Amino acid sequence: MENNIPEMEPIASGETHRTERSASAQRRLPRKRRRQNRTLKIINAVLLLLAGLGLAACAFAGYRYYTFSPGTYDDQIAALHEEAARIRTETEALQQELALEDEQMRSDLHQAGEEGAAAADALSTAKAENESLTETHTALVERVDFIKNIHENAQTFREEYARKIRQLEDMIVAGESGAKICYWSFDDGPGSYTAAVLDFCEQNGIYVTFFTSREANDTGRGDVDEPELLRREIMGGHSIQNHSNSHQYSMIAGNMYTKGIDSFREQVRLQDEWVYENTGFKPGIFRFPGGSAHAFSGPLSKDQMVSVLTELGYVWIDWDCDMADNAKANPDAGTVYSRAMYQVRKIDPPIAVVLSHDNYYSTYAGFMRAVPALQAEGYIFLPLFPESYAIGHSYARTWYY
Ligand SMILES: [Zn+2]
Repeated sequence: MENNIPEMEPIASGETHRTERSASAQRRLPRKRRRQNRTLKIINAVLLLLAGLGLAACAFAGYRYYTFSPGTYDDQIAALHEEAARIRTETEALQQELALEDEQMRSDLHQAGEEGAAAADALSTAKAENESLTETHTALVERVDFIKNIHENAQTFREEYARKIRQLEDMIVAGESGAKICYWSFDDGPGSYTAAVLDFCEQNGIYVTFFTSREANDTGRGDVDEPELLRREIMGGHSIQNHSNSHQYSMIAGNMYTKGIDSFREQVRLQDEWVYENTGFKPGIFRFPGGSAHAFSGPLSKDQMVSVLTELGYVWIDWDCDMADNAKANPDAGTVYSRAMYQVRKIDPPIAVVLSHDNYYSTYAGFMRAVPALQAEGYIFLPLFPESYAIGHSYARTWYY
C-alpha cells in the first residue's frame, strides 16, 4: 500500500498543514489517486472502531468474571433440582392416581357395558315373549270368537248347505238337472258298524244320514262309544237325526206309542237333548220307530204326534227304499247290494231315501258295493236336511226285492 501511495503524509500531522498539504497534494494528484486515498481513510477508521469495541468487550467480560459468584448459581441449581424432583414426584403421584381412575372408569364402563348387554338381552327376550304372547292372545281371541259363534256359524253353514241341496233337488224335479241323489240312512245307531261306515264315507267323499236312538242298539258290551261316534258323524259332515230315545215301538203297554202323548213327546225330546249334548247340533227330522204306518196305527193319532213333532221343531220322514236288514231277516251283503241297486233306480224323480241299519256287517258290506255302482250311474250321496224335497215325498212302498 505504501508503495502505491508514496506521497501520503502521516495522519497525525497538524490539521492546517495537512489541509494545506493535502489540498496542494490533491491538486497535484490525479483524480483516481485521490479516490483511493479516501477509501483507505474510511477503512482505517472502521478498523479503529472495531478495535475499540473489542477492547470494551474484553473489559466487560473481565468485569463480569470478577463480579459473578458461582456459589449463588450452584444454590439456584440445587433449588431447581429440588423443585424438579418435587414436580416429578407429584407428577408420578398424579399419573398413578390417573391410572387408578382410568382403570376404575374402564371397570365401570365394562360393568355398565355388561349390564347394558344384559338389559338389552332381557329387553329383547321380553319383546319376543310379548310378541309371542300377543300372537297367542290374538289366536285365543279369534278362537273364543269362533267358539262363541260356532253354533251360529254351523247353523248358518248348515242352512246354506241345505238351501243349495234344495235348489239342486228342485232342478232335478223340474227336469233341469241330470243329477241323481241318494240319501242313504242308517237307523238305530250308533252301532257296531258305525265307525266302519264313517271310515268308508270319509275315504269316498260321500255323506249319509244317521237316525239315531240312544237305547235302540245297546250291545251291553260297552264296545261302542256312542257319544264319540255321534261327534264323528257330525264332524264327518253327515246328518244326525232323531229316531226316539227308547225305540220301544211294539204296541204293548208302556211303550212309546201306547203310554200317552206326553210319553211320546218325552221320547223325542230325550233323544234330541242327547244328540245336542254330544254334538251341539239340534236334529230336525224324526223317523218313527217301526215306520209311520205302524206308529199311526196305535192309540196315538197321526195329528197328535205330528203336532208334538211340530212343537219340538221337527218334520218327519219314512223312506223310499228298504234294505230290510233286520236281525231276523239277516240278508247277506249281496242281497243288500242288489236291493239297493234295484230299488234306488226305481225312484223317480231320482231323489231316493234308503233305509238300512249300521249294526250289521252285511249291511255295511252291501253298502260298500252299492255306493260305487250307484255313483257310476250318476248318483251323489248327500246328507238329509229338514228342508229337503224328500220330506213329504218319501213313503214306504211294498218292495218284492
Ligand atoms: Zn229303528
